[in-house]
Amino acid sequence: MTEGKEGFGDDAIEAARRLMVGPVAFLKSAPTLEFLPDPTVREVAFAGRSNVGKSSLLNALVNRNALARTSNTPGRTQELNFFEVGEPVRFRLVDMPGYGFAEAPKDVVKRWRHLINDYLRGRQVLGRAFVLIDSRHGVKPVDGDIMDMLDAAAVSYRIVLTKADKIKATDLARVTAATADAVRKRAAAHPEIIATSSEKGLGVPELRAAVVEAIT
Ligand code: GDP
Repeated sequence: MTEGKEGFGDDAIEAARRLMVGPVAFLKSAPTLEFLPDPTVREVAFAGRSNVGKSSLLNALVNRNALARTSNTPGRTQELNFFEVGEPVRFRLVDMPGYGFAEAPKDVVKRWRHLINDYLRGRQVLGRAFVLIDSRHGVKPVDGDIMDMLDAAAVSYRIVLTKADKIKATDLARVTAATADAVRKRAAAHPEIIATSSEKGLGVPELRAAVVEAIT
């Protein structure tokens, strides 16, 4: 029954789908820690290089077209964006600012590091982070930076490959294995990788289940 579903049973997959395609609302943006919402419910955060497909995947998870804004411009989205899922609210999705712009000014990068570090270290309601990696590129040094921060903050995280439709199945298998290898020795990383495509819906039901698992 669980074959091909990342270890999640049909019931868990369906429960996660029902929750996440139900009521979802933008709560607020936090450019600095003072703007964080009160930690009243569990949170699940999404991180990734700019253009990795984070907005598209967040939208696919909640089955909306434009909840998270796509195509972020360099240096613009330096906020944490909070979305509330469920009515009454069951948990929050947190869209972390994209990283890895080659041309990003030093002060922008510094501000990003501070915001992320402070959030990761101080947020007890944070259940898990998902770190998105473009399946065409694999793990890059900037991805290593965010994983270092997560490991140091002892926030558990799971790697999600994006845009899996853009490569051949054999290449996806190779990248998945290489990515699992790259995180094997990392203290807070989940050993199993989830491959997704927002375009084709691949892996989206399983990722929903993994999100719900992180807050229960
Ligand atoms: P973000 O900067 O990480 O939020 O990335 P976006 O979600 O804005 O996506 C960046 C680009 O990749 C856009 O042109 C998307 O249409 C494209 N994209 C995102 N996800 C997928 C996917 O699963 N498959 C394909 N083929 N393209 C994707």
